[in-house]
Amino acid sequence: MIDPLPRYGLVLDGAEVASGAWMDVTDPATGLAFAQVAAATAADVSQAVNSARAAVVGWRVTPPLERGQAIARFARALDAEAGRIAELIHREEGKPLGEAQAEVARACEVVHHFAAEAERVWTTFLPAGGQGRGSEIRPDGIGVVAAITPWNFPVALVIWKLAPALAAGCCVVVKPAQEAPLAARAVCELANRSGLPPGVVNCVTGDGPSVGKALATHPGVDKVAFTGSRRVAEIIAGWASPRLKALSLELGGHGPLVVLDDADLDVAVDVAISQGYANAGQACYSVNRVLVPRALERAFVERFRTRMADVVLGPMATDRGLVRHRDLLADARAHGAQVEGGDDLDGSRVAPALVTGAGPGVRLVDEEPFTPIVAVMPYKDVPEAIAEANRPDYGLVGYVCGQDLRRAADVAHAIECGTVVINGWRVVVPYAPYSGWRGSGIGCELGRPGLEAFIRWQHVRVLA
Ligand code: NAD
Repeated sequence: MIDPLPRYGLVLDGAEVASGAWMDVTDPATGLAFAQVAAATAADVSQAVNSARAAVVGWRVTPPLERGQAIARFARALDAEAGRIAELIHREEGKPLGEAQAEVARACEVVHHFAAEAERVWTTFLPAGGQGRGSEIRPDGIGVVAAITPWNFPVALVIWKLAPALAAGCCVVVKPAQEAPLAARAVCELANRSGLPPGVVNCVTGDGPSVGKALATHPGVDKVAFTGSRRVAEIIAGWASPRLKALSLELGGHGPLVVLDDADLDVAVDVAISQGYANAGQACYSVNRVLVPRALERAFVERFRTRMADVVLGPMATDRGLVRHRDLLADARAHGAQVEGGDDLDGSRVAPALVTGAGPGVRLVDEEPFTPIVAVMPYKDVPEAIAEANRPDYGLVGYVCGQDLRRAADVAHAIECGTVVINGWRVVVPYAPYSGWRGSGIGCELGRPGLEAFIRWQHVRVLA
């Protein structure tokens, strides 16, 4: 007899709860199911939201210092279980183990950061006339947050919402992507095991159109914090607006790397390789277009090609990704662009691709590829490079390489992206905001603004 697959229930009100149905979780490397998670019903979603609503009454008035201590315990629990959580990511999403470990390590840093930030959610008082009269200006948690997240960074993108929301005094219902729900669910379970009061962190697993919809439209949700595709963001924004829910949307990007004529080409190639092919290109911060001065194009491409030969990618997380990779490269060829690499390897993996000779009108330089494709595009002068960097309707992460840091910073300021990295590739730090400009989203995560995104302000004016 074949052993049944391990099953993981919903996380509701501090307990693990089964639902009426189960969904398979598959390993993208083999295409085989290795576990099952509960497929939540609308009633389960309501129960999760209601338990968060009940919990938020106490959590929002828990003194910030105590909230900070509770979040710090959660951070330590996550540190202790980091290896297990990384294994889950590796298995369900296909990310190489080292990348999965790095994702969890960075996520732990974010929780530690917001544990400390929780203590700095200050109330201020401006006296006017003595005897307790004046203005009390107090931050209050926005309430119950629905965190709806994608599969490509299944833990990081939950933590970017969960940690600041908890610090602000909110309670959260997490809805991870159905393709990779286990690690996110395990994080929510850990939050409960580390001693957060029941109902403060809940997790409902299931698909987008039913579970995601039930959560995003639930009247008990005050804010929807969404990361994912533009298509789904527009649907969610459509639901949120008549209900006047607060909303943050973190969407895809089309990362430009502007290589200036004084750039160290080895650094530029390093940035393009590491950010072009991280997570098999399935990253919102990917480098998708490398803009190089015409005179340096050949030297850049030669060095890039040498480095690309050594890149080994993990499996694509979904069959959709495999098909998309093929389609984008076919479209580029049909437009006369040159494609190197990019072959299908073993049914789940693809080779990284380098594309030259692609311009506007070719899909992969107009639309977020979300597969391991880097296009190299020559430019005549810096204004032309900046115009190309800002051409597609995305504005998440851009990159600049150049040794004159003042000029590089001027170029960074002209790139319409929420984040621009100069001469390197570590994009995210807990203390700085991460935000999508233009078609890449609304609102921001991380940093002080990422904490204030979960706060509403109250002015109590004591007149007499
Ligand atoms: P997706 O939009 O398909 O899914 C995201 C989440 O929304 C999942 O949990 C899904 O189940 C849910 N969902 C799907 N349909 C829904 C519906 N009708 N109603 C409610 N919820 C629904 O995105 P994806 O394919 O999982 O992720 C890829 C996208 O995410 C890419 O565009 C990528 O660039 C973007 N992304 C952005 C960031 C960022 O921080 N800006 C980070 C990572 C990924």
